Amino acid sequence: MERVEKLLKERKAKGLLRRLEPLSKRGRGRIRLQERDYLDFSSNDYLGLTNHPRLIEAAVKATQAWGTGSSASRLLSGDLNIHHDLESKVAAFKGKEAALVFNSGYQANVGIISAIVGRGDAIFSDRLNHASIIDGALLSGAKLFRYRHNDVNHLESLLKRERDKFKGVLILTESVFSMDGDRAPLKEIALLKERFGSLLMVDEAHATGIFGASGAGMVEEEGMIDKVDLIMGTFSKALGSFGGYIACDRRIKEYLVNFSRSFIYSTALPPSVIAVNSASIDLIKEEPFRRDRLIENSIYFRKGLVGRGFCVRGDSEIVPVILGGALRAVNLSKALQESGYHVLPIRPPTVPTGESRLRFSLNFDHTKEILDRVIDAIVGGI
Ligand SMILES: *Cc1c(COP(=O)(O)O)cnc(C)c1O
Repeated sequence: MERVEKLLKERKAKGLLRRLEPLSKRGRGRIRLQERDYLDFSSNDYLGLTNHPRLIEAAVKATQAWGTGSSASRLLSGDLNIHHDLESKVAAFKGKEAALVFNSGYQANVGIISAIVGRGDAIFSDRLNHASIIDGALLSGAKLFRYRHNDVNHLESLLKRERDKFKGVLILTESVFSMDGDRAPLKEIALLKERFGSLLMVDEAHATGIFGASGAGMVEEEGMIDKVDLIMGTFSKALGSFGGYIACDRRIKEYLVNFSRSFIYSTALPPSVIAVNSASIDLIKEEPFRRDRLIENSIYFRKGLVGRGFCVRGDSEIVPVILGGALRAVNLSKALQESGYHVLPIRPPTVPTGESRLRFSLNFDHTKEILDRVIDAIVGGI
């Protein structure tokens, strides 16, 4: 308990203590918090699919047909034919031979990375990669090298210096980064992967459903499907559901079924979730207007902010407005909250000192008119 008290006090003293805040309602880009309605700019339901009637219907039907739970892990009797149908669909969507579904994106990263590499191997990971990637790397026992964010020269110099000391090598990057909303230089990274005889794994958590001709992600958009060995993603963001996956070749899938502990030792996702995931991939294909409008609106929002003199990062549906000091970000977030906009300040240590920001996650239901009003509120609140 001493440790608990000490760490909580330290957090509080720094003004970084986090609290849970239950919502009483959500939907169509809005939330209700303590009896007040807000436009929500902190959700990952980018395409507004979580309330889609077809997804709700899929969940109900699957529950009626199969019951509420999968009742065992995949390797026991929890392996339903709808899990396999979903995996075939993910493989086709991502353009890979095979796919394997995990219980969340977090569990996918932890279970894949820790199975693919081990002691005597090395991981080269972008410094801004998600915590689940770091945790997988630490659990693997491989030596972890973190290269400067999107800095291919730094990655190259690390590979030159270290590659020959290790057996297997895995390069890891997100395709669209969650804090900066920017994109990884996938083509250059893939060239290094080939030159240094490495595997390449790309986390498409924030790109799937939004980028690419069929909505499969940045790997598709950049024509890199054959160059990326492991394409990881989640159903819990733009796809409006829950669960993670990897798209890869058949042999890697077979290996993960045998060696990935987060896959093996956890009960399979429930039928309702599997059915929604499947229906959601269909919707991504059938309703491209959602991603088209989201991309168009994020360009519009960025232009509007730059026009009013703000420093904006990235190139996606995630729009970070860099404000400098932490206090400035916190105060602006509070002012926006007063005006009915829920957007959270991101401060050190999550981002470097002097780069505190507001991070806007845009959603299909945020129209241009709404975005205009937000920009006015930001100008008024600063
Ligand atoms: C959200 C996220 C994950 C985890 O996915 P969940 O399905 O929410 O567990 C993994 N990687 C990145 C980059 C993410 O943003």
